[in-house]
Amino acid sequence: MTRPGSPDSPRAALMPLDDALSQLLAFAVPLADIEFVSTFEADGRVLAQDLVSDLQVPPHDNSSMDGYAVRCFDVAQALQATAPEAGTLPVSQRIAAGSSGVPLAPMTVARIFTGAPIPFGADAVVMQEDCEVLPGADGHSSNVVRIKSVPAPGQWIRRAGEDVTRGAVVLSKGELLTPAALGLAASIGMNLLQVARRPRVALFSTGDELVMPGDVAPEQMKPGAIYNSNRFFLRALLLRLGCEVSDLGIVPDRLDATVAALQAAAQDHDLILTSGGVSVGEEDHIKPAVQSLGQLDLWQIAIKPGKPFAYGRVANAHFIGLPGNPVSSFVTFLLLVRPFLLELQGVTHSAIKSIAIPAHFTWARADKRREFLRVRRNAAGGLDLFANQSSGVLTSAVWGDGLVDNPPGQAIAIGDHVRFIPFSELLG
Ligand code: AMP
Ligand code: MG
Repeated sequence: MTRPGSPDSPRAALMPLDDALSQLLAFAVPLADIEFVSTFEADGRVLAQDLVSDLQVPPHDNSSMDGYAVRCFDVAQALQATAPEAGTLPVSQRIAAGSSGVPLAPMTVARIFTGAPIPFGADAVVMQEDCEVLPGADGHSSNVVRIKSVPAPGQWIRRAGEDVTRGAVVLSKGELLTPAALGLAASIGMNLLQVARRPRVALFSTGDELVMPGDVAPEQMKPGAIYNSNRFFLRALLLRLGCEVSDLGIVPDRLDATVAALQAAAQDHDLILTSGGVSVGEEDHIKPAVQSLGQLDLWQIAIKPGKPFAYGRVANAHFIGLPGNPVSSFVTFLLLVRPFLLELQGVTHSAIKSIAIPAHFTWARADKRREFLRVRRNAAGGLDLFANQSSGVLTSAVWGDGLVDNPPGQAIAIGDHVRFIPFSELLG
């Protein structure tokens, strides 16, 4: 018996992406270790505790305007008076943000500023633009204001607890911390946060053709040599996902060298990530090397770009082998490795969201496999397609601002709604 998607069954059906993803995520047991980091440093980390608020935010009813805190009933009374006194009330206190006033004396108003607590007895704020400060006898401002109409009760008052109530879970375990989440944690007084430890990832590229930029000048490149581009975007993607990366460089296409690199990488890492050499050609040594040290499943996933993909284990480390073609490597990282690394850190919802957007292109040559087309949003609210969708053309991933997730065999006509996944959804 051979399994779907296994290379031992070349004519068997390729494995659907969703099956590959759920199998892969079943291996992503969250790392047990947690650590405390400063809330300042926690952007992009994964929360390892529920954050429960010990206080309400805001802590007290406060003004959302610069103006005057009033009692509506008193304003109505003042408006009954005959001109020129109609609507006039004396200012009995001044309350700035950071101070607290005293109960509002009857038939007076309180000068108040944004964020300052509403004094006991006041039930509305009138913004200063709607108040007239009467001139005093000496020509300067007096201590009396005129209000033209009765405000609605509650006007310009931000209620205590309208953001966070006491005892509320403001952020949950498993949440990926964003800049706004750091602000929210700070608003309930948290200066340290318990987060999952960073996954330690060893990264290497395989391929005798690979040369590091800087080692050989473009005009000196030997025939057949190419620069190692995967190493640069894979490292950057890993860092964005909160990983500690050990960059083990380029490993030659030899079994002994591949075995040695894997053995070294398995030492202190949670994941060994490689690109290239994952097919079953004579120059592809990943499969036999991983098998000699541990175990490996090589999957032929029904997606384009990105068919070959390997998951295995070497000692205590997870192993993931990505295809060598740059766009295949990039796309399989985003679709499979990213959710895997998020779940290692305890993220509970790593599902990728797509949105429906009209295609402003045609795609007649639909593939049997589910395709991820490099596209870009245009000013008219539609999607343009990068002309060359080859898995070796990295320009497509730079020109594009996302992927169209196109079902197997689905041709696309102009105006059809397609599923769009913005890169911003995948690179955050
Ligand atoms: P492979 O998966 O090793 O058969 O490689 C498939 C294709 O991707 C070949 O054309 C390789 O030259 C290319 N390739 C493999 N690794 C890299 C890399 N790190 N950077 C750029 N291209 C690569
Ligand atoms: Mg190769």
